[in-house]
Amino acid sequence: MASDAKLSLRKDLARELGADSVVDSEQVGPYCHDAAIQRGLRGVPDAVVRPADAAGVARALRWCYRHDCSVVPRGGGTGLVGGAVAVDGGVVVSVERLNAVRGVYPELGRMYVQAAVSTANVSRLARESGLMFPPDPGAAAQSQIGGNVATNAGGPHAFKYGPTRRWVSGLEVALAPGELAVLGSDARKDASGYDLVGLLAGSEGTLGIVTAVQLRLAPAPATVSPGVVFCSTAAAQGLLSDVLGSGLQLAVLDFIDAPAFALARGSYPGAEVPRGEDNGTDDGFAFLVELDGSATAVAEQRSELAAIVGAHGAHLDGDFDQAQLWRWRDGLNGVIAGIRGGKVSEDICVPAERLLEALAGVQAIGSELGLEACAWGHAGDGIVHATYLVDTADGEEVDRALDAGRRALSLALALGGSITGEHGVGVVKRDLLGANWDAATLAAHGHVKAALDPKGLLNPGKKEPLGGWNAPQLQPQPAHRIDGRSC
Ligand SMILES: Cc1cc2nc3c(=O)[nH]c(=O)nc-3n(C[C@H](O)[C@H](O)[C@H](O)COP(=O)(O)OP(=O)(O)OC[C@H]3O[C@@H](n4cnc5c(N)ncnc54)[C@H](O)[C@@H]3O)c2cc1C
Repeated sequence: MASDAKLSLRKDLARELGADSVVDSEQVGPYCHDAAIQRGLRGVPDAVVRPADAAGVARALRWCYRHDCSVVPRGGGTGLVGGAVAVDGGVVVSVERLNAVRGVYPELGRMYVQAAVSTANVSRLARESGLMFPPDPGAAAQSQIGGNVATNAGGPHAFKYGPTRRWVSGLEVALAPGELAVLGSDARKDASGYDLVGLLAGSEGTLGIVTAVQLRLAPAPATVSPGVVFCSTAAAQGLLSDVLGSGLQLAVLDFIDAPAFALARGSYPGAEVPRGEDNGTDDGFAFLVELDGSATAVAEQRSELAAIVGAHGAHLDGDFDQAQLWRWRDGLNGVIAGIRGGKVSEDICVPAERLLEALAGVQAIGSELGLEACAWGHAGDGIVHATYLVDTADGEEVDRALDAGRRALSLALALGGSITGEHGVGVVKRDLLGANWDAATLAAHGHVKAALDPKGLLNPGKKEPLGGWNAPQLQPQPAHRIDGRSC
């Protein structure tokens, strides 16, 4: 859009929403990217608005709908797939001023917050009330609860407690063409309508703009006990399958593969990560576990887990400070990126019983393309952060790593998995969206989008196949996989 047209757009929006709700053109820099800037992804919006309240968000949407302007909802800007980036211009609607806590009710296990309250603050408020908000995505200090809903964010504790959706009982949301709606209720069960809360969760700003969230909180466990299981790569799949099959309710079942562990081990504060030495075999594969519950239940789980682990010739080490272990785990991303200056990581998800196949595939892709590869993630949920180390000054190597990332996404599909388990699709993964869906599934997605956003103005192109839902430019597989095999 030409600069005089942008000026007139900003003036119109200022008249509609108030001058303090429109960001000056010199201040839009931070709104031109999200965490996908690591891939060089940027987009300059035609305007950025930051309405003062939910009604203002609905008015902004109504104005855009009336004027056929696209709308890019924005939360904390920590997304890794460009979802909050105005790649084709449009009006960025940032909910950043909607940061009030409407109420915390520990006795009812409920919290009502506006969309821009940070994930870390939601967790802190729950903790201070003696309760727990289980979702624990990595960028908690900056990501917002509205963004967490929009991406259905997960984290290590999603294995036991599920992703954000599971803790949302209701939403206040601006829907096209610009109306506020309240979805869900305080009732624990509501069978009256379609699950619109579920539909909005993970919709990446393509179906509506979340302005407030009703959250459920869980009782805080009396005892939390971390541990690390060290085993050989060869034993890891059998061990994982036996833990999953045992019915043990671990709070966390993460993994760090042997190459990643070797790279990150020395960054453990004060020392190397302690580990069961040294039986002369490859025991560099690590599972990070956490047990929670009553002291008795945790002790019982620990001895059951130790027995399973021991049967695989592995070792469960429980001698860890929980906070220190998680600080180290949270820092893994940065430590590994720092080794050669950068990395390309893709979040893929495979059936847990095929985790080690996926990890072997990630390595094979790296070898074929001459790249150092490693992976870590959430073993219990089959989520793999497939990672290729690069020197960011070497453009050719970065291109090779991006190619490796694409191949890792295809690998996930070939294993009956998904191109994303956590971070979403945004613009970055559009070309593969729906590649393993049948035609009816693709069409159903298109119908949902058309019903809730008939003009296609809400975050256009995001979470949508290239070419659109009606003419996707991809090759859907003939049959959907439900058991890891074609049927
Ligand atoms: C270091 C790091 C670690 C991370 N770790 C995890 C992790 O463990 N698990 C995980 O799931 N993700 C993780 N992420 C990705 C990211 O933090 C999550 O996707 C997060 O939920 C995004 O929230 P946000 O508020 O930053 O949203 P944004 O980045 O602003 O937006 C993300 C998407 O949601 C939409 N959106 C944002 N707010 C709203 C709203 N109010 N209404 C409607 N749509 C909206 C946007 O349009 C966009 O499509 C990580 C990112 C980083 C940088």
